[in-house]
Amino acid sequence: MTEALSQAAAFDYLIVGAGFAGSVLAERLASVGGRVLVVERRPHIGGNAYDCYDDAGILIHPYGPHIFHTNSKDVFDYLSLFTEWRPYQHRVLANVEGQLVPMPINLDTVNRLYGLNLTSFQLEDFFASVAEPVEQVRTSEDVVVSKVGRDLYNKFFRGYTRKQWGLDPSQLDASVTARVPTRLNRDDRYFADTYQAMPLHGYTRMFQNLLAHPNIKVMLQTDYREVQRLIPHDHLIYTGPVDAYFDHCYGKLPYRSLDFRHETHDVEQLLPVGTVNHPNDYAYTRVSEFKHITGQQHRQTSVVYEFPQADGDPYYPVPRPENAELYKRYQALADAEPDVTFVGRLATYRYYNMDQVVAQALTTFRKLQGEPVESQST
Ligand code: FAD
Ligand code: UDP
Repeated sequence: MTEALSQAAAFDYLIVGAGFAGSVLAERLASVGGRVLVVERRPHIGGNAYDCYDDAGILIHPYGPHIFHTNSKDVFDYLSLFTEWRPYQHRVLANVEGQLVPMPINLDTVNRLYGLNLTSFQLEDFFASVAEPVEQVRTSEDVVVSKVGRDLYNKFFRGYTRKQWGLDPSQLDASVTARVPTRLNRDDRYFADTYQAMPLHGYTRMFQNLLAHPNIKVMLQTDYREVQRLIPHDHLIYTGPVDAYFDHCYGKLPYRSLDFRHETHDVEQLLPVGTVNHPNDYAYTRVSEFKHITGQQHRQTSVVYEFPQADGDPYYPVPRPENAELYKRYQALADAEPDVTFVGRLATYRYYNMDQVVAQALTTFRKLQGEPVESQST
C-alpha cells in the first residue's frame, strides 16, 4: 500500500451521537457524497427521542414523552421525507388543590379554580389586577408574577420549577417558564405551533430511515474515545455534552437529569389527557400516558413518571447566568477546534426542542458546505 493510501481517511466525518443532531447531519452529509461513521454510546439510535415497544407491546418513550411540534415549514418538510405523520395535539392538566385544570393557564383554569364565570375580556382585567409590576423581566419568577400574579404563580409554577430544577424560579432565566404561555381564551392545547404531529410509525423508525443511506455506517455501544484514533476521519461532529469533550477542564457544566418510572396498567386508559402535571405534590413532576400520544389501541396502557435528579444522564442544560458564563468558556475552546463541529442540545448547551435541534443541524450542514448562513436565530 502506498503511503498516501494508508493515510487516506476511511471516513470524511465521524459523528458522535445518533440523536436528532447527529442523525440529521449524517443524512445531509451522506446525501452529498460524504462517507459518514456515526458512533453512539447507547445500544440504540434516536438519542433521547428513541421509542420502542415495552413488554406489554405498547410503544413507549424510555426517556420521557416526546411530542413533536414546530412552526418551521422547512423542518417539517425535511422530516416528512423520512416519516409519515399522525396529527396529535397534546393536552396537559395540572393537579391543583384537588382539581385537574388546564395547563397552560387559560380562561377555564381561572374560572374553575376560583369558582368564577369570567369572559375573556374580564380575564384580561383579572390578570391586570393581580399581576405584580416587574421593572425588568429577568427570571422565571418575574415572567409569571408579572403576568398572572403571585397566587397562580405559587399554585402552578413555584413548586413544579423547584422540583424540576432543584432551584427557585428566581434563580432561572426567564426563558424557562416563558416556554409555557398564558391564554385568555379556552384553547387547552399545550402547544400552539403550526405543525403538531407524531411520526406515524414512531421516532425510531424515522431515525432508521434517516440513517439508511449506504454512505452511513452506525456503530452502537461505543464511546467515540474508544475508536477516535483507530478510525481515520477528516472531521469530527460532536453532539454529546460540551464539557465532557474538554474533560471538564473548567469544571462541570450543570445538566439536570431525570429518573423515569415506567408502569403498565391493566386498564385501557389511566389519564384523561396525555400528561398530568403535579406542581405541588409528590417527588415526580408529571405523569404521561403514551397511548394518548401515539394513538395506539391496546387493552392495557403504559405511563411514565418523571423524577428530577441532580446526577445521572444529562437531559437538560440549566439556563441561568452563571452557567451561561461557564458555557461561554467552553464555547471559546470549541470555536478554537478547527476540525470539530459542536451541534445539538448538549453540545451547545441550549434548552432546545427537537425541531430546534433539527433546524440547528440543517444550518450546520449548510455552513459545512460553505454556504453563507445567517447567524443562529433560535
Ligand atoms: P441527544 O438526543 O441527547 O443525542 C446525543 C447522543 O449522543 C446521545 O444518544 C448520547 O448517547 C450520545 N453521546 C454522548 N456522548 C457520547 C460519547 N462520548 N460517545 C458516543 N456517543 C455519545 N423536545 C420536543 O421537541 N418535544 C418534547 O416533547 C420533548 N420532550 C422531552 C422530554 C424529556 C424528558 C427530555 C429530556 C427532552 C425532551 N425534548 C423534547 C428535547 C429533545 O429530547 C431534544 O431536543 C433532542 O432529543 C436533542 O437531540 P440531540 O441530538 O441534540 O441530543
Ligand atoms: N412549568 C411549571 N409548571 C408546569 C409546567 C411547566 O412550573 O405545570 C415550568 C417548569 O419550570 C418547567 C418549564 O416551565 O421546567 C418548562 O415546561 P415544559 O413543559 O416546556 O418542560 P419540558 O417539557 O421541557 O420538561
